[in-house]
Amino acid sequence: MACHIVMLGPPGAGKGTQAKRLAAVRGVPHVSTGDMLREAVQSGTPLGRRVQAVLDSGALVSDEIVADLVRERLTRPDARAGVVLDGFPRTVAQAQTLDTLLGNADALVIVDLAVSATDLIRRLSLRRVCAACGTIVALVEAGATEVCAQCGGALTQRSDDREEVVRERLAVYERSTAPLVDYYRERASYRTIDGAQSPDAVAGAVAAAIDETAAVIGQDR
Ligand code: ADP
Ligand code: ZN
Repeated sequence: MACHIVMLGPPGAGKGTQAKRLAAVRGVPHVSTGDMLREAVQSGTPLGRRVQAVLDSGALVSDEIVADLVRERLTRPDARAGVVLDGFPRTVAQAQTLDTLLGNADALVIVDLAVSATDLIRRLSLRRVCAACGTIVALVEAGATEVCAQCGGALTQRSDDREEVVRERLAVYERSTAPLVDYYRERASYRTIDGAQSPDAVAGAVAAAIDETAAVIGQDR
């Protein structure tokens, strides 16, 4: 039975970092709707042209667009054993779509990373992405040297990590995504993790949570 993992949590909670690690450890694809949308923007596809302004405003892309992306991705052969979903679902409608896509045959584990609003704003303002290798880097302080420790590449700031956009994204999270916690809370395969710990500690807690839910998967997708 395939086991799909959803990384839930507000922008800046560390979903991307943890989802990448987890996918590498488990040997399954990391499926980030944010990455897919940014790639579409970069490559100038018709989809990219449609969503660019939405991304820059901090609002959500339509449920239909992201559902199409995820549906297509989950049908590829490498997704058969499971994927780590990062940034999807983000609305209750998307969560319902995911349940329909997976049906009863596939297990779903939901890992919710909890971080306080103050921490999120600080983290997002210090978040950089390596233009060369894609590594997500947290600057120690504003104005710290901006090169990637992995490859020496230039660090860039995501255009939606600017402060005005960050506030809008957090508001959108509260309005549209936080209700997902209620959607999933009753499931035996739902776990909340303290996302304020070090990345290694969070990764350990996430792995433990997934092992724990392995026992209940199957009765409660
Ligand atoms: P973060 O979690 O840090 O906000 P993401 O890379 O997951 O960053 O998402 C960036 C942007 O991409 C979002 O602000 C939104 O505009 C869009 N997006 C990503 N996933 C979804 C989704 N499932 N539904 C709607 N919009 C999405
Ligand atoms: Zn790099």
